[in-house]
Amino acid sequence: MTTTVRTPTRRTRQSDDDSRARLPALSALADDALAELVGTLGEPPWRARQLRRAAWQPFVASLDDIRQLPAGLREGLAARLRFISAIVASERLADRGTTIKLLCGLDDQLTVETVAMESPPRGGSSRRATVCVSTQVGCAIGCPFCATGRMGLRRSCTPAEVVDQVRLAGQALHRHGLGPVTHVVYMGMGEPLAAYETTVASLRALAVHGGISPRRITVSTSGVVPSIRRLAAEGLPVTLAISLHAATDELRDRLVPINRAHPLDALVAAAGAYGRVTGRRLSLEWCLIGGVNDGLDQAAGLVRIARRLRAHVNVIPMNRIEGSPWGPPPADVSRAFLRHLSQAALTVTVRDTRGGEADAACGQLRASLEPRRQLRPDGTLGPQRSAQRGPDEIRAPAGRDSGRRPPLGNGAQLPRADQGSEKRRERAHRGA
Ligand code: SAH
Ligand code: SF4
Repeated sequence: MTTTVRTPTRRTRQSDDDSRARLPALSALADDALAELVGTLGEPPWRARQLRRAAWQPFVASLDDIRQLPAGLREGLAARLRFISAIVASERLADRGTTIKLLCGLDDQLTVETVAMESPPRGGSSRRATVCVSTQVGCAIGCPFCATGRMGLRRSCTPAEVVDQVRLAGQALHRHGLGPVTHVVYMGMGEPLAAYETTVASLRALAVHGGISPRRITVSTSGVVPSIRRLAAEGLPVTLAISLHAATDELRDRLVPINRAHPLDALVAAAGAYGRVTGRRLSLEWCLIGGVNDGLDQAAGLVRIARRLRAHVNVIPMNRIEGSPWGPPPADVSRAFLRHLSQAALTVTVRDTRGGEADAACGQLRASLEPRRQLRPDGTLGPQRSAQRGPDEIRAPAGRDSGRRPPLGNGAQLPRADQGSEKRRERAHRGA
């Protein structure tokens, strides 16, 4: 496994940087505003469309790279907008270079994690490159098994910051000979449906500007019931993943505290309505925690809910996180739990999270992208879905993937996004 760490160049001219940070980011500009800006620079509206298209190309990392635009226009634009609203503060490769973890630095020096992973073609479908985005810096829901929940909420991302995570991930995939991005999952830091406007605006921008259809996007939620109902009416047929984790209110109140406001009955009803309105299949996430939600009574409750919703079930053995005594159950307990699900003839996949302990701080990011195994009717696990990847390659023991990491989330001190010249940032990308 290769490990690469890139750190940004140091800030040199504070006032310059501050004024640049106040410029609007390209992804934050609506089409008409961009056309107007291009117009003030004496160019026709089609130049705005040309710019937008080019900005999504994975090999374009700065305005300077868009050679089809006249030099004068590029200069004028550089003085009036920022090419992108975030920078790559660090980048790490794992899984033989097919997984790229980015720490994205935002304007106010906060950071979010973004992961991109390429999976080889499987069973008739072509290869895919999935990006897992964060919607918030931290999270207010406070699930006790989640590293992000322990940070509390600093703020929600802007729609542009979510969209630009996908652009940065696309560029990173390209630098490593991977991509282009085919799928996006909203399973990084934060609760997408608590950052509702950000989520919906970024979904629309991904479709319109990035060409990534909602059908290739999954939004994961802990169960913000009013927002699930609202999302159903947006005309955005994304796959909805419900982070269930418990089948009784008593346990769910503890594991997913939003359950105290929106209990299971309301959640299941809203999820069912979402499935009916959008025609999308639902998926239920179950983070399997030893001695907590791994009993057969909980398995039976999960079966009841999955049947009622005709949902797919994803079991994720818990990634250990610092400061929590919880972890995945022993193998025999997991087997019994999974056997119970398989006997109920549900479609179940199990995420392979063996790398989790080496990367506990972003447990859910790994979990969202790692290869899955299909649960067979006899309760055994099928082969990994990404056939080219052996078990050892998924594992990322601490010693082998211990590149220097800035602190997570609110801890990292970073230069402002897009500060200094495009050239300087480009050098940072290349690790110069
Ligand atoms: N806030 C949203 C999306 C981000 S979390 C949600 O909760 O759905 C994405 C997924 O990772 C969720 O299913 C979450 O429960 C799971 N997760 C969080 N911490 C985990 C951990 N330590 N181990 C395994 N899965 C985890
Ligand atoms: Fe927030 Fe999701 Fe983590 Fe719960 S699991 S704290 S909702 S990010």
